[in-house]
This record gives sequence, C-alpha cells and structure tokens, in this order.
Amino acid sequence: MTSPLIELRNVRKVYRTGSREFVAVSDVTFDVVEGDLVSLVGPSGCGKTTVLKILADLHKADDGVVKIGGTSGFEPGRDVGMVFQQALLLKWRTILDNVLLPADILGLPRKAARARARDLLAMVGLSGFEEKYPYELSGGMQQRAAIARALVHDPKLILMDEPFGALDALTREKMNLEMLRIWEESRKTIIFVTHSIQEAVFLGSRCVVLTAGPARMADTFTIDLPFPRTLDMKTADEFGAYTRRIYRLLGMD
Ligand code: ADP
Ligand code: MG
Repeated sequence: MTSPLIELRNVRKVYRTGSREFVAVSDVTFDVVEGDLVSLVGPSGCGKTTVLKILADLHKADDGVVKIGGTSGFEPGRDVGMVFQQALLLKWRTILDNVLLPADILGLPRKAARARARDLLAMVGLSGFEEKYPYELSGGMQQRAAIARALVHDPKLILMDEPFGALDALTREKMNLEMLRIWEESRKTIIFVTHSIQEAVFLGSRCVVLTAGPARMADTFTIDLPFPRTLDMKTADEFGAYTRRIYRLLGMD
C-alpha cells in the first residue's frame, strides 16, 4: 500500500481581519492517492477555495495536519499547477508564451519547455493557436490554454478551482469530457473544485463532500462509474444514486 499524496487531518482555517475572526474551514479530513481525480464539492462559501489555497501553500492551516508528497520532497512552487475560474491569461503574451509562464518563472530550459508547451497545446486541442493572443480565443479555448499552462512544468498535483464555472452549459459539458481525456492521458493527480453536484459525480474517481460554511467533512467516497465516462452515463441509475447521496449529505433531499 503506497502512502497517499495528500493527507489532511482536522484542518481548520480562520481568517483574521483586524480584531474580527471568521472560521472559513472548521474540520476537514481527507486523503488523496496519486493519480486520483478528486472532486471537491460543496455549496458556495463553504471553504473550498480556502482548502485549495492551503494545499497550494498560499495559506497556512490554523490547526490540523497537512501532509503533501508522502515521503518525497514536495515543493508547492514546482509541484503544483493551478487553474482558476477565469483563465487569467496575460493579454500581451501569445498563447504559447502564456502556457510557458510557469516554466519562465521557474527558469526551466527554454527549448525543452517550448516543445512541451506545443505538445500540451496539441493535447488540449489548440494546435495552430500558438501565436494568437488571448482575445482571439473563445472562453472555452482560453480555459484550455490555462489547463496547458498548469501542466507545463510537469507538476505532481493539479488544483482546479471551478474552472468551468464561467462557461455556458454546452461548452462546460465539452470541457468536462476534455478534462477526463486530459486526466487519462496525463495521469496527474487532480483536485477539481465545483459547486455542481452533477459535475462532481461525472468527473470524480473519488468525491469529497463539504457541508455549508464553515466547511466540515460530510463524506468521502469512490465514484464507481467506469472510465472513459460518456454523457449518457448522466441518465444512468447509478449516476442518479450518487447525486442523491450528495444531495442528502448536503441536507437538500
Ligand atoms: P468557496 O470557495 O467554497 O466558495 P471560500 O473558501 O472562498 O469558499 O470562502 C469561505 C468563507 O471564507 C467565505 O465565507 C468567504 O467569504 C470567507 N473568506 C474567504 N477568503 C477570505 C479572506 N481572505 N478574509 C476573510 N474571509 C474570507
Ligand atoms: Mg471558491
């Protein structure tokens, strides 16, 4: 049995503004095994982004245990790739140069990084757009470029914070399929934050459910639907059983 890539135990996070304290995460415990695609689902404001920021080492937990990387040395700057709700591409850089940004920041050898960035753009379906600027791409295409950017420095862990929340419903479904394909090709460990219960079930190999703020663990379970997943699975009984389970955990049944 290999040790998990991520172990969170009774994690608590309090935001302090002046003398005011706000408990954003009260008690969160879960493990992530290498290669999993974990969907982290819960209502808006429950603390999902805060949990991701703790994993990315952008915030320190106030209490509890956060272990990342098992026994190997893990450096968040090098080993984490992040995708946000907005693509956040730099408008004065070409798509290729945007994808290269983490490699530039880390000072990776430019020639190899360029080759990898081109391969990643091909993987996300953006061959031929290398020299375009962000404004020349649709929202979905920009988000695919952001995914390529998160992968360019070959991180061990990808954190995605509601990456498709700003897209229209059809584009979002396409991006979900694209995500699953990228995950199966890249074999990365991914934590995918969403407030969509359908999206959480469709994407996740495992699912972590958080209750309304401040975040507490509701449950963690395996989503035993086969891969590759297809859109018609959303109408299957097993899919409905998983979504009902999450609604129940969130007190919405
Ligand atoms: P989610 O991503 O699930 O919507 P967040 O982790 O962003 O939730 O926020 C959890 C709670 O913490 C929210 O009530 C939010 O208003 C509050 N919060 C987030 N960031 C800060 C901050 N920097 N200072 C104070 N409160 C914050
Ligand atoms: Mg959030």
